[in-house]
Amino acid sequence: MPLHTCAGCGALLPYEGLCRKCREEKQRREILAWTPEEVAHRQRALLEELPALERMDDQAERDFWALLSCWDGITPDIQRAALAQGVRSPVELFYHAPEDVRDGLIDALLQTESPGEANCLMCCVAMQGDDKALETLLELERNPRPWQESLYVPPSVYAQCGGWTFDSAGVRRMLHFETCYPLVQGEPGVDSPVRVAQPREERCPHCGSRLVDLLVVDGREPRLHFLGVDGIIKATCCPVCTMYSEPVFSRFTLEGESTMLPFEPDWVDEMVKEEMEEDYPKFTANGLALGEKRVPLFYGGNEKNIDLLGGFADWVQDWNYTPCPDCGKPMKFLAQIQWGALLGGGEGTIYVELCPECRITSMQYQQS
Ligand SMILES: [Zn+2]
Ligand SMILES: [Zn+2]
Ligand SMILES: [Zn+2]
Repeated sequence: MPLHTCAGCGALLPYEGLCRKCREEKQRREILAWTPEEVAHRQRALLEELPALERMDDQAERDFWALLSCWDGITPDIQRAALAQGVRSPVELFYHAPEDVRDGLIDALLQTESPGEANCLMCCVAMQGDDKALETLLELERNPRPWQESLYVPPSVYAQCGGWTFDSAGVRRMLHFETCYPLVQGEPGVDSPVRVAQPREERCPHCGSRLVDLLVVDGREPRLHFLGVDGIIKATCCPVCTMYSEPVFSRFTLEGESTMLPFEPDWVDEMVKEEMEEDYPKFTANGLALGEKRVPLFYGGNEKNIDLLGGFADWVQDWNYTPCPDCGKPMKFLAQIQWGALLGGGEGTIYVELCPECRITSMQYQQS
């Protein structure tokens, strides 16, 4: 039985101190308070730590993710040193790396005969992500090497790791937005162009729970012009069935209408359903709102349990872009919401994706 409350948010805890989310927030605030000198110092330190990073040493990983997620602070020097020392992971090291680093990665990829090494190098090349990276992966897609037989997915799916892909003609499709905002706890009712889990009257045809507008985004707000949607994006779902189903889809109009598309739930947990019935008012009164300032694209990286709009998803499992039910193309990552946290201390993340052309959103739940 929980005997304590979190000193940050008041959630019930089985121990004294801060809950995981509050503890991480405190660490993040400390990292964001670094001075430019401190950032430079950490960058120099990371250069020394690269071999440890490859070995997945805890401290080196913390230092890397602090620099990348809070400061966008992985410099070309670090990328060059990583290439020279044969350090290939985390593959995010190579996001938008300079051309000489890209060429080094591509050379290594084209020379290797090892499926394991190729697997990692394709992710690195995808993270670098420029036109030559695309050409290289396209060429491998058209003329597979022997090692590709051992891999589960083709190079165009490896490209998705870097937030993009290409079709058979080599046309690029971006799967992420190059702007990222955090969703932060505001006061319920305060005006925000982004809202989470807003109440609806209709009930789910499968389990009878009240539906929610999981995400409501007003693309007309200047901070959100990067979405390229001149109207309202609304993603509607059953908050219970979404946890037990493959992605649930909804279709929206720019005027703010939205309809959940038919689906077959795998099953429904009666207990979760009853809890939701009880928690619905609190759940839909959450104060999550759009943060004022942009943050780096990997702000949510490495299990930071952050709610965010745009940028890169922090997939609980491997990256997993949903095919649009209308056009069949992979959808674009729009937002991630710590579902468990909204429901009072549970686990799990909901990823919201968008097909801007078809005006469809998808919502998928993942749990570690
Ligand atoms: Zn807390
Ligand atoms: Zn339902
Ligand atoms: Zn589509």
